[in-house]
Amino acid sequence: MKQILMIGTGGTIASGKTAEGLMPELTSEQLLAFVPAVSALCRVECLQLLSLDSTNLGPAHWLQIAGAIRARYDRYDGFVISHGTDTMAYTAAALSYLVQGSAKPIVLTGAQKPIWFDGTDSKRNLTDAFLYACRGCGGVQIVFNGKVILGTRARKTFSKSFQAFSSVNYPCLLYT
Ligand code: GLU
Repeated sequence: MKQILMIGTGGTIASGKTAEGLMPELTSEQLLAFVPAVSALCRVECLQLLSLDSTNLGPAHWLQIAGAIRARYDRYDGFVISHGTDTMAYTAAALSYLVQGSAKPIVLTGAQKPIWFDGTDSKRNLTDAFLYACRGCGGVQIVFNGKVILGTRARKTFSKSFQAFSSVNYPCLLYT
């Protein structure tokens, strides 16, 4: 069975209801509890690196995520990073250049609705991300709403629609 590292960084997917509104607070383990089917696909270990709205992520965090992957690269077959959608494409581009030539899939995903919301897109996106991390190509990709998009080509083009990301001037790698 494949061994996948899940790196939690926050975002809407991991948001809970707080006095200040929705805030990222769910851990990667708590997210995984919503998608029990993943345990039949692979063995998952979790690293809760950040719990941030992705609008508060920047270059120092990109280095932190890349460093976390590099330090554990040999121990896993693939990596799933849960992330807010607003800057996911920037993190994907940064990781594409910070971790070059990866033979293992490095997959970013997130959602437009928290994982505990009715009709959430989180469960599909997270499950697809693990499927791709187990069976997909190496390199950095975004898996979102049934599309696999190369990390250097993704752009958030819709702020509310589940179809948040487009692949710019390059075909999607796969439709799930
Ligand atoms: N601004 C938040 C973020 O990027 C919410 C957007 C989202 O996660 O979908 O983390």
